[in-house]
Amino acid sequence: MSARNVEKSELQWREQLTPAQYEVLRKAGTEAPFTGAYTYNKESGEYRCAACGAKLFSSETKFDSGTGWPSFTEPAVAEAVELRPDNSLLMRRTEVICRNCGGHLGHVFDDGPGPGGQRYCINSAALNFEPQASTSAGSAASSPASAGTAGAAAPETGDEASGGAQQAGASPA
Ligand SMILES: [Zn+2]
Repeated sequence: MSARNVEKSELQWREQLTPAQYEVLRKAGTEAPFTGAYTYNKESGEYRCAACGAKLFSSETKFDSGTGWPSFTEPAVAEAVELRPDNSLLMRRTEVICRNCGGHLGHVFDDGPGPGGQRYCINSAALNFEPQASTSAGSAASSPASAGTAGAAAPETGDEASGGAQQAGASPA
């Protein structure tokens, strides 16, 4: 196990995260399907780790999987996530973890629709959605030149209303 960029005690995480976020991110819990804040979110923007703010997924790779959880064909930044085998619950799955803070995000399955064939099944509670700043028609949205400019700024305001605060304690794990 490599050291995380963000290391906090469980007590600190408990204080920082909502109970639903803590259950997923620190206890590898799974929110009940169709309850997450972002399951049906179709807005353009990026999804960041609810624990540390690392950029993880983009709305451009989000698709409606019908499973009840936000689903993505790939991470926005490949190095931002870490995969490891998870054989709990008598299933052979691959766990998706935020590399920056070690938080549990969800699982990845190989039945996705994209060219890579992957389906990142991620808990809403592990994510904070950041709508695209520009409200214009977005004609330049898919410019390849925009890649690699992540992390230039860290917006601090207006974030507290997001997250899955409405669900609590529904984890089967
Ligand atoms: Zn994180």
